[in-house]
Amino acid sequence: PLKPSNARSISKVRVIIRVRPFLPHEISARNGNPITCISVLDQDFESPEEITVYLKDPETSRKECYQLDSFFGQEDNNVGQIFYREVRPLIPGIFNGCNATVFAYGATGSGKTYTMQGTEEQPGLMPLAMSMILSHCQSTGSTAQISYYEVYMDRCYDLLEVKAKEISILDDKDGQIHLRGLSQVSINTMSEFMEIFSTGVQRRKVAHTGLNDVSSRSHGVLVISVSTPSTDGTGAVVCGKLNLIDLAGNEDNRRTCNEGIRLQESAKINQSLFALSNVIYALNNNKPRVPYRESKLTRILQDSLGGTSRAVMVACLNPGEYQESVHTVSLAARSR
Ligand code: ADP
Ligand code: MG
Repeated sequence: PLKPSNARSISKVRVIIRVRPFLPHEISARNGNPITCISVLDQDFESPEEITVYLKDPETSRKECYQLDSFFGQEDNNVGQIFYREVRPLIPGIFNGCNATVFAYGATGSGKTYTMQGTEEQPGLMPLAMSMILSHCQSTGSTAQISYYEVYMDRCYDLLEVKAKEISILDDKDGQIHLRGLSQVSINTMSEFMEIFSTGVQRRKVAHTGLNDVSSRSHGVLVISVSTPSTDGTGAVVCGKLNLIDLAGNEDNRRTCNEGIRLQESAKINQSLFALSNVIYALNNNKPRVPYRESKLTRILQDSLGGTSRAVMVACLNPGEYQESVHTVSLAARSR
């Protein structure tokens, strides 16, 4: 049996960085020579387990440094590498009844959706995880189901319903949280997944009539649940799930001058991202009390963060944005 200290270290949340490449319009706006404000020291012999990220303000040359678990740079397509090193190791646990969570975190335009959903040519972590889970299902006789929902202004909307339906978040007696009536759809093949998931993605884009692009100001949660027949011959079934989350953009209110509904939205977003970072900090630092109850998002994820669950937070960065990157990386580094 695992000693408690080992069991605890399993539940550490890894915090990694992904810097996206400059986009063509960003390159031409700088006459072909955009300035990267992010660099990394990945051979730290003092502490080989972590990397040091430097953020340099191009105007003042002021430099800040932060320690994190891993770094993926501006190469065009390294999502396969991120999947292989960071997400694939979580999958065997799902087939053993453990839960796991992968978050993409960062400002709007930093590459969260690209990292999680990807494109047809460059599938992101969501389809890559689905594909690996489906092939494991074949060899283990397990079955997979998905749910897809959005958390916006502390409300939860089912994106697999014909009209993105609001669902209630219920506390039961033992403090577990339930999303009542959330759809679960069985998935057998990747083409089934792509069809159902992309319908949900479209729905997320149009769910809130009259409000512009709510999708970047809401959390999008794909849950892949797996049921595996237990090997002890009792006919019992072992259930585990993987949450893949495209978090709302963490905008810095001091810089964006939000008003009205935008200010309310961004207050909710900041509250939930701050609560998430507090939960991760408490888990990573063995705090006796983990503040799950501080936001809807952390309450919903309570059974998938901590305990035997494992998690990875991918902090996404735009290489040309210094202030914004400091905002993202400082919160990410503070979670560790
Ligand atoms: P976010 O979801 O954080 O708002 P997006 O994922 O929509 O950001 O990315 C912003 C833009 O950058 C999109 O046009 C996207 O295609 C592009 N992009 C993001 N990451 C990459 C990457 N690793 N390689 C190439 N293009 C990227
Ligand atoms: Mg996005």
